[in-house]
Amino acid sequence: MGGHPFYRFCRSALEDIRKQGRYRQFTPLARQADRFPVYEQGGDVQAVAAADGREVVVWSANDYLGMGVEPAVVEAAIAAIREHGAGAGGTRNIAGTSPLHAALEAELADLHGKEAGLLFVSGYVSNQASLQAILTSMPGWICFSDRQNHASMIAGIKGARGASCVIFEHNDLADLEAKLAAAPKDAPKLIAFESVYSMDGDIADIAATCALARKYGAMTYLDEVHAVGLYGPEGAGVARRDGVADQVDIIEGTLAKGFGVHGGYVTGSAELIDYLRSVASGFIFTTALPPSVVAAALASVRLVRRESWRRERLFARVAAFRGRLRAAGVPFMETPSHIVPIPVGDADRCTEISRRLLSEYGLYATPINYPTVPRGTERLRLTPGPFHTDAMMDDMVAALARLLGVSADRHTEAA
Ligand code: PMP
Repeated sequence: MGGHPFYRFCRSALEDIRKQGRYRQFTPLARQADRFPVYEQGGDVQAVAAADGREVVVWSANDYLGMGVEPAVVEAAIAAIREHGAGAGGTRNIAGTSPLHAALEAELADLHGKEAGLLFVSGYVSNQASLQAILTSMPGWICFSDRQNHASMIAGIKGARGASCVIFEHNDLADLEAKLAAAPKDAPKLIAFESVYSMDGDIADIAATCALARKYGAMTYLDEVHAVGLYGPEGAGVARRDGVADQVDIIEGTLAKGFGVHGGYVTGSAELIDYLRSVASGFIFTTALPPSVVAAALASVRLVRRESWRRERLFARVAAFRGRLRAAGVPFMETPSHIVPIPVGDADRCTEISRRLLSEYGLYATPINYPTVPRGTERLRLTPGPFHTDAMMDDMVAALARLLGVSADRHTEAA
């Protein structure tokens, strides 16, 4: 053990990563289900001075609405475990499909106004497996992929042997059109993009992208991972908000962010879903999501559809937080979404500010460094939620002002 050249390679690669200030460190956090977004910090966190059992307020969670700690969602999981046991018992095609799986797929299809839906073990797998399956179906596919697409989409596109990929500049419709126009007319084309981009917090023009798709005979594949649960009627996403969900061929989402549980899915035509169910490797050859997870997700989706107060409160809280940042002179990237990136611009500094937020102020905000974002654009990515109080916001703004060296003579505004 340890003698193979591979291990030497690992040691030197990790050393490089450390030198570049982008070594990833786990911070063990125990979520307090009854006091979200308060967590307890435990374990041996090397970078933090005093740690165990200390309360911290989390500002980087992707359980945007707190659905993962919602009592009805938690109870649904417990009831399903008692009734059906802890695991699914098989892959979806071999003994692993429960009535809950079928009910959740129908619910998601209905949410997006599509004929059918298909669950995957995660949002990552839903993108990777679906794109790979679609792009290896007929010969000659060309996938037009937004430059900032998520790693899971890139994995699916790259894994599609025989298909070609044309990257268009991020959210740049002119570039997309030029590239569509330059492609062979009769090649099958797919435009793969996201609605809310999670790092810059910007939002695609879905209507205009669909118009281009129609003009050039392309299909559309939209990742709404950071939008479902938050945007549009019933939390159905940006495509639905913009009234164009029917123009998007395939809408993909996660159950792990706005819905607070776990799992991924795609929705689309009955034929497409039937095809993916029959050929997508990442769907077929893995054990189904456990019934407890599916039951919790189903409870969450139904609750989110019915009750808009959480998403309304989330956006009100985001506005309040921005107001406080502005009043205190703390720089942030203005975005049309719920994501509030705080630019830092240097990996070491970003990591250091994050470390001090945690150790000195009990505030958890992860540093976002290269390769997640380009070098020089390192940032803290904050996601205020419906349960961040005024006092929590004041604490975060004051700490940021200190650590970023913003003059402290301004007063925070109770926006
Ligand atoms: N798509 C995007 C845009 C994402 O940001 C993520 C997760 N960070 C995923 C897909 C994968 O979703 P999941 O976490 O459910 O695997």
